[in-house]
Amino acid sequence: MRVDLHNHTSLCKHATGTMEEYVLKAIQEGIDVFGFSCHNPMNFDKDYRMSFEELPLYLNEIARLKEKYAGQIEILSALEIDYLPPFMEEKLLELPLDYRIGAVHFLGDWGFDNPEFIREYAKRDINDCWSEYFKATEALANSGKFDILAHMDLMKIFNYRPTKDLRLEIESTLKAVKKANMCVELNAAGFRKEVGEQYPSVEILQMAYALEIPISFGSDAHAVEQINFKRLELESIAKSIGYTKCAVYRQRERELVEF
Ligand SMILES: [Zn+2]
Ligand SMILES: [Zn+2]
Repeated sequence: MRVDLHNHTSLCKHATGTMEEYVLKAIQEGIDVFGFSCHNPMNFDKDYRMSFEELPLYLNEIARLKEKYAGQIEILSALEIDYLPPFMEEKLLELPLDYRIGAVHFLGDWGFDNPEFIREYAKRDINDCWSEYFKATEALANSGKFDILAHMDLMKIFNYRPTKDLRLEIESTLKAVKKANMCVELNAAGFRKEVGEQYPSVEILQMAYALEIPISFGSDAHAVEQINFKRLELESIAKSIGYTKCAVYRQRERELVEF
């Protein structure tokens, strides 16, 4: 079964294409289960996400497409939610979503994955950035509010690599993920960035596998042509580690299916 749980929409203001075009492309690519998981509305970083007023529109369009294309593809509703405690609105957690993807895109108020703010790297100690990133990710898992951990080593996006060994931090984060009964996402977006590889690294995936943490697949598509991008590579990486199943969520119930 081909499952793709991480896809955006033009509502986030940095993606293109209509939601229906995404669905048609997903059908064409042979995807069986397709999840929309656009960036959550939030009273911060508003230029890169839908507004609270647009949320009903988003959910209604998912429901319409789910019904229209039933029999051809299963469509799921989700959000990629920034775990940014002062700005995370509890009302998002009341929405009847199929699943919640938790993501760390900020260290404090610095959007470290946004090319607009890339100059900030020059002012910081890269090892501290990585430690802070995993600390925030562990806090996300410990919050117990999420089903999927997005792009677990996003900090590598522009290829600023740590120079110290981070295995203990990674291990501790993965244990929190395991305890929260979350899965780790295998995300293709890194192939389109400077880093040129999937999130997370093979090393992290091996550690996740050893802890029996399941995986999910996500294109992280921000354009129609990015749907299913590098899917075969992602699958072969997962298989080389030992994974044969990936997660699907319906009303926050997880099912593991063969891929
Ligand atoms: Zn985005
Ligand atoms: Zn993300």
